[in-house]
Amino acid sequence: MCLFCDIIEGKIPSTKVYENDHVLAFADINPVAPVHVLVVPKKHFDDITDMAVKPEGDLYMTEVMKGINEVARIKGLDNGFRVINNCGEDGAQSVKHAHFHVIGGVKLTEKMV
Ligand code: 5GP
Ligand code: ZN
Repeated sequence: MCLFCDIIEGKIPSTKVYENDHVLAFADINPVAPVHVLVVPKKHFDDITDMAVKPEGDLYMTEVMKGINEVARIKGLDNGFRVINNCGEDGAQSVKHAHFHVIGGVKLTEKMV
């Protein structure tokens, strides 16, 4: 069982922002900024290390990048935004389906790097 696979399959409702054959983008249930959207590959990968080694990982990573761009366009993030990927235990990844947080709509100041 995977929460984001269930969202992709429509078994669990979400607020869709963008979708194509390869990616789904939906609003994070616990937003940390005015815009907080999750971009997820429609094929299950555990995390980005899994995407790096699996067949089709390249394709889905490219589609994620385009999906992020679509989200930024749709949400009017013309002045910039931040993309975050939490990977594995030390990365504090809580949902084990690779996903990318697109965060914006406000001037972000809390930088780790
Ligand atoms: P992670 O910590 O794994 O990088 O991020 C997981 C994200 O998924 C969190 O920001 C959390 O708020 C979001 N999330 C968890 N459960 C749900 C859900 O059922 N629906 C939506 N839309 N987001 C969720
Ligand atoms: Zn999944």
